[in-house]
Amino acid sequence: MKLADFSRIFVLSLSLLLSLAGCQGGQHKDPYAPVIQTPQRIFGKILGYSVQQRPIELLTAGTGAEVVLVIATIHGNEEAGTPLVYELLKVLQQRPQLLSSRSVLIVPVTNPDGMALRTRTNAAGIDLNRNFSAPNRINNDNYGLSGLSEPESQILHTLIVNRKPIRILSIHQPLICIDYDGPGEGIARRMQMYCSLPVKKLGAQPGSLGSFAGVEQNIPIITLELKRSDSQLSARELWAEYGPAVLAFITYPNWPY
Ligand SMILES: [Zn+2]
Repeated sequence: MKLADFSRIFVLSLSLLLSLAGCQGGQHKDPYAPVIQTPQRIFGKILGYSVQQRPIELLTAGTGAEVVLVIATIHGNEEAGTPLVYELLKVLQQRPQLLSSRSVLIVPVTNPDGMALRTRTNAAGIDLNRNFSAPNRINNDNYGLSGLSEPESQILHTLIVNRKPIRILSIHQPLICIDYDGPGEGIARRMQMYCSLPVKKLGAQPGSLGSFAGVEQNIPIITLELKRSDSQLSARELWAEYGPAVLAFITYPNWPY
């Protein structure tokens, strides 16, 4: 037997052995193999501290260029949005395609002192959602003696100015509607298709986040007003009720499913 023949037989035997062992170098994919998707990492960062020195945390999912911002509990006694946005984080990890071109910025508790004290305002008695600089701003003991007088509103303002979200969602209770400021009507109507809340224009409130971001900065902003009784729901129940609408916000103008 010539050396060339011997080599040919050796190569044929080797490939037969490999094929019997199922080592075809991935040429034939196992149709029953589980699909492994790398979970998206969530990056946590402390943006700053409240009046009573509680941290205000930012959680970021994705690294894409399109930045969207979701905040919860700017009014401390309207806390149902917080478990809802933590559910959102879980879903974003499970469905990484939602993050292919975007970064989702989430502030789960914008007013941690109010949440701890069960008050609408921060620990200094200021309504943070009336503490922004906007043409309709009113200075007083409840709204603050000047715009951005409070650390919590300063932190949120800095985040918006630095990261330039193309749309914002702020979750409140108990007015049971989807309100919007600025050019947000299309997003509000899309969200309405995915939950039981109606679109309702409440009107820009003095010095509110909606007035600052929506009216002054022209960023579409949705104020999602859940029910008071939603505070009794579990995170899963909240997600079942409002999750699809939140995803419709995240993916707009594309469809979430
Ligand atoms: Zn509110």
